[in-house]
Amino acid sequence: MFFTSTNVPVVVKGEAADGRYVVTTPCGREATIDTAGGTKVFGVQVVIDPGHGGSVDTGAVQNGIIERDLNLKISGALQTDLWNRGISVMLTRTKNYGEVLAQRAALADAVGAKLMVSIHHNSSGARPPSSSSPGSEVFVQANPESQRLGKLLYDKVTTALAANYSLSWYRSVDAGVLRVTEPGGDESYGMIKRPKTPTALVELGWISNPAEATVYKQDQYVAVAVDALGDAIEAFLGGGSSGTGLKSRTFTAGLAPGTSQCTDPALE
Ligand SMILES: [Zn+2]
Repeated sequence: MFFTSTNVPVVVKGEAADGRYVVTTPCGREATIDTAGGTKVFGVQVVIDPGHGGSVDTGAVQNGIIERDLNLKISGALQTDLWNRGISVMLTRTKNYGEVLAQRAALADAVGAKLMVSIHHNSSGARPPSSSSPGSEVFVQANPESQRLGKLLYDKVTTALAANYSLSWYRSVDAGVLRVTEPGGDESYGMIKRPKTPTALVELGWISNPAEATVYKQDQYVAVAVDALGDAIEAFLGGGSSGTGLKSRTFTAGLAPGTSQCTDPALE
């Protein structure tokens, strides 16, 4: 794993004859890059994945919020928070560019991370029911470590949001900690299916809910969310909690944008 001189994380496939690295780009292409000014990375404990990125895969755009940007803002602040706790951490995406799911998963596996958290915010064209408690959703893998992580994330995040904000939240049937599988039994979501690293995907809340969107634009929200996510990750690394309260349902997810729709950032 290597951070290029332009601060883009890439997976190293090998060395070219001239000492340059052959790498897989964020969009999943092969490239040969200069090693000067870059940084080799290994042995990272925690990988944070800011969901979406680039001009095609914006994530949800509603109520004046672009999901890819909010996810990155929280991920960057969470990186700082974890460093301050003495936890080594890296992001799968460091700025606004496209990145395929396979590459995000490969980055976490390449550094041997103990866990990965994928940061998202939810939206819907329909109006999910209102609720007095946050409708955060955490999607997990079949493995017990992912489920332990998911339970900690859900508990810390929903407790913090409820303590800080009195809102009419959106809350769909997926609120809670869930495994979502296709009818054949495979994982539905690419960011859950692909990584060997224990991974949980967090939908913190609904930007399609005007009341929540007002909150999500505030710096204080970023601080509240980051503190809760950091507490959950620190508790996970300390061996805390067990993955109880898991729900499951079957669902066939749509495909995320692939390499052909993805524009790579400058690598040098
Ligand atoms: Zn998303």
